[in-house]
Amino acid sequence: MRYAVIAEAYEKIEATTKRLEMTDLLVNLLKNTPKEIINKVVYLTQGKIYPDFVNLEIGVAEKLAIKALARASGRKESEIEEDVKKTGDIGETAQNFITNKKQVTFFQQPLTVQRVYEILDKMARTSGSGAVDLKMALLAGLLADATPKEAKYIMRTVTGNLRLGIADMTVLDALAIAYGGGKENRGYLERAYNVSSDLGRVAKVVAEKGLEGVKKFEISVGEPIRAMLCERLSSPEEILEKLGGKCIAEYKYDGERIQAHKKSDEVTLFSRRLENISSQYPDAVELLKKYVNAKDSILEAECVAIDPDTGEMRPFQELMHRRRKYGIEKAMEEYPVSLFMFDALYVDGKDLTLEPCPIRRQALEKIIGESERVQIAKCIIADNVKELEMFFLEAIEEGCEGLVCKSMAKDSVYQAGARGWLWIKYKRDYKSEMTDTVDLVVVGAFHGRGRRAGTYGALLLAAYNPEKDVFETVTKCGTGFTDEDLAKLPKMLQKHKIAHKHSRVQSIIEADVWFEPVVVIEILGAEITLSPVHVCAIDVIRKGSGLAIRFPRFTRNYRLDKGAEDATTVEEIVGMYRSQLKKIVE
Ligand code: ATP
Repeated sequence: MRYAVIAEAYEKIEATTKRLEMTDLLVNLLKNTPKEIINKVVYLTQGKIYPDFVNLEIGVAEKLAIKALARASGRKESEIEEDVKKTGDIGETAQNFITNKKQVTFFQQPLTVQRVYEILDKMARTSGSGAVDLKMALLAGLLADATPKEAKYIMRTVTGNLRLGIADMTVLDALAIAYGGGKENRGYLERAYNVSSDLGRVAKVVAEKGLEGVKKFEISVGEPIRAMLCERLSSPEEILEKLGGKCIAEYKYDGERIQAHKKSDEVTLFSRRLENISSQYPDAVELLKKYVNAKDSILEAECVAIDPDTGEMRPFQELMHRRRKYGIEKAMEEYPVSLFMFDALYVDGKDLTLEPCPIRRQALEKIIGESERVQIAKCIIADNVKELEMFFLEAIEEGCEGLVCKSMAKDSVYQAGARGWLWIKYKRDYKSEMTDTVDLVVVGAFHGRGRRAGTYGALLLAAYNPEKDVFETVTKCGTGFTDEDLAKLPKMLQKHKIAHKHSRVQSIIEADVWFEPVVVIEILGAEITLSPVHVCAIDVIRKGSGLAIRFPRFTRNYRLDKGAEDATTVEEIVGMYRSQLKKIVE
């Protein structure tokens, strides 16, 4: 197939803004395309040479493109640069310069789609030293054989500027019309696309095997399935009603969504946007290799930053440190992650996407060998409002955003690529941001693990309630302590150690070690939330809940100048919560 056919079609497509016309033009192009290269034509039409999840880009910078054009046209780079300034489009400039080229190529070979594709592929795969020169030479070679119109589109493609405005759905429409028996069958193609994220493969299957082939379209480990998303409701009553009175309520972890594809010993991770992010999380890859007891599988998880010393969840923002090309080893050490698995889409040859949610969850439970770093999303089966509300508060307390409530109905399939009512998120804002530090009393401690074995992993801290003259726990803090602090703390607290919880300390949490309320330390938290486990200001804001400080960090300020009764009061914490609350609660 001549590349000129494509260029011709592009020109027409570009000239229209009407979707129907665009679809017709595309149908024409696809019908005129030999079936064995239809996938390539589909990628090219979208300005790509592979589906998005393949981490390969042609990536030609404008400067390099200008050099190649100079070589192919025999004109000076400066002339070309001038023209690009005028046209603002390297494609148009290429068309002009190839039309008026000084250098005539004697053995000009007409360009075929196959050749253009092969050269672009070579360019995308070139790396290392000499890559720039080689890319330039390859591009110049193509341009030398191109007609002016072809040059325009080649140039736009290599520089990432081919913006024909053809949406994925338009391509599916066109494929349905050209090979799938009509537009009314688009749904089948759409599903194939949603479970493969690969328009090229869908095109090939429908062109070669027709609609029947598409109906039998198989999930392939390594091709990301487009994510299922949630709707949102703001009360447990509405949620239960919508889900038929009963649901699986899972913690909504606050991290990065990961779709893990495991093929024997090879694990690939895809982001919510279907990018391959395996290199950001080598530790997650290893964890999955170790704890997934299936040969081949596609599983979904939320990847959450955890505190290396306490194992507690950290805010989502800490995962930013993983978005880097270099120094990932160090980032892995400083910002470790845990995986909370929440769905199984494929296990050992079985496509589970059309199975109901409870079956998928069972499949997940069967193959996950739980460890501290790989867990199945915590859940309950809830059928009453009170239970759901308590579980929500518990989730918030543990550092989650809220809950994802999932339908248990027969039709609760995995709706790839869709936002629907089968999953409903519940994340009412019970959070209020903290800007001020607080001074809290150390009332208990927890033994450390790992690097902190032999010392304390976290301290249980309380605010003072002068009315009742008691200390009410408000947070557990394990962050911000240096090695020096860790050595000093047990010594400092030793003389206040007691065998039981102190009579003036109010706590539901069981500490490993209890202290007399004497030592005061300064803490900066990220936010104050309602909490079912801390008793600070219990029942004040909401019946049955207290307030907790989330993501607390020791400022390294020991308030030796303060007695326990000088610590921040419960009333002050209530005031901070109220004044900073983003949304008024009920
Ligand atoms: P949000 O900002 O609320 O995360 P969103 O648009 O990113 O919104 P939603 O559909 O609203 O996505 O929420 C679903 C997201 O919640 C998922 O993409 C996933 O990353 C995350 N999540 C955390 N825990 C779970 C869970 N148990 N089940 C499903 N998704 C979960």
